[in-house]
Amino acid sequence: MLDQESLNALREALRILDAGFAKLPTYTPNAPRVEQIAEALSATAERLKDNYPYFHPLYAGQMLKPPHPVARMAYALAMWINPNNHALDGGRATSAMEKEAVAEIAAAFGWKNFLGHLCGGGTMASLEALWVAGQLQPGKKILASKQAHYTHQRISGVLQLAFESVPTDALGRMDMEALAKRVERGNVGTVVATVGTTATGSMDPLPEILELRAKHGFRVHADAAYGGYFILAENLGKDTRSTFEQIGIVDSIVIDPHKHGLQPYGCGCVLFRDPGVGRLYKHNSPYTYFSSAELHLGEISLECSRPGAAAAALWATQRLLPLKKGGEFARGLEQGRKSALALFEKVKADSQFLTAFAPELDILVFAPRGNSVSETSTLSRKVFEAAAKRGLHLAVAELPIHFWENNLGGMKRDRERLTCLRSVLMKPEHLEWVERIWELLSAATAEVLALRT
Ligand SMILES: *Cc1c(COP(=O)(O)O)cnc(C)c1O
Repeated sequence: MLDQESLNALREALRILDAGFAKLPTYTPNAPRVEQIAEALSATAERLKDNYPYFHPLYAGQMLKPPHPVARMAYALAMWINPNNHALDGGRATSAMEKEAVAEIAAAFGWKNFLGHLCGGGTMASLEALWVAGQLQPGKKILASKQAHYTHQRISGVLQLAFESVPTDALGRMDMEALAKRVERGNVGTVVATVGTTATGSMDPLPEILELRAKHGFRVHADAAYGGYFILAENLGKDTRSTFEQIGIVDSIVIDPHKHGLQPYGCGCVLFRDPGVGRLYKHNSPYTYFSSAELHLGEISLECSRPGAAAAALWATQRLLPLKKGGEFARGLEQGRKSALALFEKVKADSQFLTAFAPELDILVFAPRGNSVSETSTLSRKVFEAAAKRGLHLAVAELPIHFWENNLGGMKRDRERLTCLRSVLMKPEHLEWVERIWELLSAATAEVLALRT
């Protein structure tokens, strides 16, 4: 089941790359100890078997999927060189490729004149965005919703910026009344708008946040680490669309190519609308080699050494699958959302289950219905295990009870938080497997509910 055909393309590409260095005086590298390498690799393969099958459509749990074969091959190809995008001298070609690939991502948000680069992931990307925010709004607070990724609070601690959470509404979005009241009290420097929360894919109401910004002058940082690529999807709800229509006027955006951009881990991206923030990165390192007058990415990045291979992989992927509406890549996202909606409809129509709200992106949450919130929570964990035994891998999440309020009926509210099941249907192939996923899920749930004492 694991693709091996693409290895042929890698061999051909490697031949082309090798030819690029044909003018060098002959040099015979130390012969690789092929047999020992094979032994170590086989041992590695044995160890790697100990994983959930993230590549398979029946893995429908966390935000996990393998990169596109082209990304995997381009990354591997670059490993024969191992360029470092810290400086042009360390990664000439891949620095140029990074600039091109990042410009394509920025263009999807309508940005032409911007500052941005790749980094280790969404956490590093937001670290930079909040670091910039803290310098431009010194002494003021960072606000994010209670459903924002926990990284924002922790990063604010690292940066020694005061942080406050804003409550969420029944749809998992930032509560606008609460935000308006909080902003009225003053001293807010930056609001983090989550564009697709990690737990439920809920989108904070960006148009309303931007209205408040117009009045109060704080910065808006869009954490689109997970949801950002959905700007290309054309089957979104009205509110989701209206957020994407305005995302171009936020101050900074974070998006993770290693989440929905088909990349290996180690590929996040930060974008600033005002390229002028580049001045905040100024340093005069005696180590960085300045053989070129051209701006190099190390001058606008907090991380120093960065993998040129990540840029090569992203560049190759976007060459194969351009970031445009109606294209193959966008269609893949639309299929994930369609899958989530289809599975949600089935779950919602079945009285075995408790649901919260319809998925805004491609993530759905639900729980087997018990007599109390605590019993439902216990049952969720049992269904998680029973489904895994049948080969269906889901995830477990803890969500506040107010997300479920409308559907609790007579259920005893003996806990503030409800443990539920969460399914991220982020692979285009999920669409063909919804029926099968549903069969396994309902059978596992029926089994667990039948065993109830
Ligand atoms: C995944 C995620 C992050 C963290 O990004 P990493 O790439 O894991 O560092 C931040 N925010 C959101 C909304 C995410 O989904």
